[in-house]
Amino acid sequence: MIDQSSFRNAESLIRFGTEKLSSISNVPRLEAEVLLSDLLKINPIKFHTDDIGISPNVMDKFESMIESRFRGMPIAYLTGKKEFWSLNFEINPSVLVPRPETELLIENAIELLKYRESPRILELGTGSGVISIVLHKELVSPEITAIDISSEALNVAENNAHKYQITDINFLVSDWFREIKDEKYDLIISNPPYVDKENLSNEELFIIDMEPDIALYSESDGTSDLEFIIRNSSMFLEHGGWLMLEHAYDQSDYCMKEMKKAGYSEIKK
Ligand code: GLN
Repeated sequence: MIDQSSFRNAESLIRFGTEKLSSISNVPRLEAEVLLSDLLKINPIKFHTDDIGISPNVMDKFESMIESRFRGMPIAYLTGKKEFWSLNFEINPSVLVPRPETELLIENAIELLKYRESPRILELGTGSGVISIVLHKELVSPEITAIDISSEALNVAENNAHKYQITDINFLVSDWFREIKDEKYDLIISNPPYVDKENLSNEELFIIDMEPDIALYSESDGTSDLEFIIRNSSMFLEHGGWLMLEHAYDQSDYCMKEMKKAGYSEIKK
């Protein structure tokens, strides 16, 4: 418990948070400021310009946020949001926290389809929906189907689409291709689970431990879902269609080999 009598203003509370988070974060002050500014609904710049008083209620909430963060809870779950592609997305523990590297996947998809009208896209494992929503905003009238095995995740994705007034992404509960009938797509895109649970360092585990296992881990050294998607996607691709996958830094040779085996051409890193 914090001795509440010792906190009269935001600065002292931020110092408490910074100290507590210094063993788990490289940017403890920033994290403490983000959490407190979220609670107070103010711009963190105010911490540097104004002397901000703190109510006991805010102190209690901040203390419990710092405690959760200290135990590994991602900031995005504590604030319920995450910026991605300069947009703001709702996030909760039923979905992965969007990572900057996934923006790279999207950039490639945009490059591929930017001059196409109404490209047909299938996203596998949409989670919070960020990939499909960004593609919807960036491309010309795309027809997007986004599946996930988790209905909780799809709720988040639907809320995010709604927030950006997108009503025509076809969100579907499906175990990979199971509910996809005889459709063909110009692009199949996915950030599937690809983490090898057995080979994580303690630091890596700390970062991802509170995110959904189903979105992160895959059997066979992290490759089993990648393999399944590579083997089955060609049946759902138009002639000349593309499969785009995010994978771990050391799975690129594996993916290229599997794609070759499955008959893909123009395989690029
Ligand atoms: N990039 C994430 C990580 O390394 C994993 C995302 C995923 O498995 N799709 O923590």
